[in-house]
Amino acid sequence: MNEFEVIIVGGGIAGASLGANIAGTRRTILIEAEDQCGYHSTGRSAAFYLESYGGPDVAKLTLASRDFLLNPPKDFSDHGFLRVRGDLHLTTGELPDLPPAVETRIVERDELERLVPGIKPQWRRALFEPGCADIDVAALHASYLRAFRIRGGEVSTRARLQRASFGDGGWQIQLEDGTALRSSILVNAAGAWADQVAIASSIQPVGISPKRRTMVQLRVGRSGLKDLPLIDDSKGTFYFKGEGDSTIWLSPHDEIASDPCDAAPEEIDVAIAIDRFEQVVDWPIERVERSWAGLRSFAPDRLPVYGFDPRAPGFFWCVGQGGFGIQTSPAAAKMAAAVLLDEEPESMVAGIDPRVFSPARFAR
Ligand SMILES: Cc1cc2nc3c(=O)[nH]c(=O)nc-3n(C[C@H](O)[C@H](O)[C@H](O)COP(=O)(O)OP(=O)(O)OC[C@H]3O[C@@H](n4cnc5c(N)ncnc54)[C@H](O)[C@@H]3O)c2cc1C
Repeated sequence: MNEFEVIIVGGGIAGASLGANIAGTRRTILIEAEDQCGYHSTGRSAAFYLESYGGPDVAKLTLASRDFLLNPPKDFSDHGFLRVRGDLHLTTGELPDLPPAVETRIVERDELERLVPGIKPQWRRALFEPGCADIDVAALHASYLRAFRIRGGEVSTRARLQRASFGDGGWQIQLEDGTALRSSILVNAAGAWADQVAIASSIQPVGISPKRRTMVQLRVGRSGLKDLPLIDDSKGTFYFKGEGDSTIWLSPHDEIASDPCDAAPEEIDVAIAIDRFEQVVDWPIERVERSWAGLRSFAPDRLPVYGFDPRAPGFFWCVGQGGFGIQTSPAAAKMAAAVLLDEEPESMVAGIDPRVFSPARFAR
């Protein structure tokens, strides 16, 4: 029997970031079902940091993560993970209502025309959010995994949890290949599979719903796009950003209920994305270079879930990161680690109440 203090199920950004924060204190193994960590949602994101996204409680986690993402500790990474570009929230009518802690300014039509050459006439104004940035997701995820290993954590890929049971003061875990592991704490960081992992552990699920989102890379007959702001609409029907000089990443902002799976884009969603894009700018579309899809997983109240299950000893939830799991990961992982280790939170998250994110809210 392989004995650990903590077993983390899932090697995406959620499991890796929490692991990096506890490995130095608890003998920890991270088990990942796929050949490589980050294969699912973490490797498919749109890779931006947007403070206004997800509502006021998520915004607290995002804002608290900013300094770490810009200037991480030297032993974590010798470079930052953000490249600031700003975001224009376009509107044909009312401006969006964003959390007050987020810096914004109004952009009128004249300025909009200068910022987005070729913008169509119905977009009257916009709210500009200067703090929006691209995140180097691959580097951030790799840095978490490196920190985890340096601090003594073990990573096991092709290691799918099949079932888990609690007895004799600990968890006995069986992997698909028959390997047995034991630990006092079992962390569920299984993304879209979170409820399935709970059921396999005889724990009542909290109701995590995976939703598919489509991304399309388009080549367009325009250059100089790389540094344009991220562009979205206040009603939430599309977003796009310059990826290369003449390429963009575009999403129709879809949110389609899905079973947990290796998500793939549907042609209709790619077509919807292109149709919406053509309503925004007059840039000629040359071709679709690639498209992909991933699952964003939400709890019933769309807040992430961090904390021990109140009905089951040693079962820790780290799930429901929706569309903000990358940008919130530094603060969310520090907050979750303090709860898991029963320690004082670090200053980065000292002002954030972890009870807001506790799974206890579903047991009431
Ligand atoms: C199209 C798209 C755009 C997005 N854009 C952004 C963005 O711009 N900014 C942002 O912050 N966030 C964004 N997100 C959200 C972000 O990607 C997610 O919140 C985040 O990746 C979730 O991380 P995770 O570790 O929970 O899930 P995952 O990365 O999916 O990791 C969960 C892992 O658990 C493993 N697993 C499941 N079951 C088992 C088992 N039984 N045994 C072992 N392992 C198991 C899976 O194989 C998987 O690797 C986007 C998501 C999508 C899909």
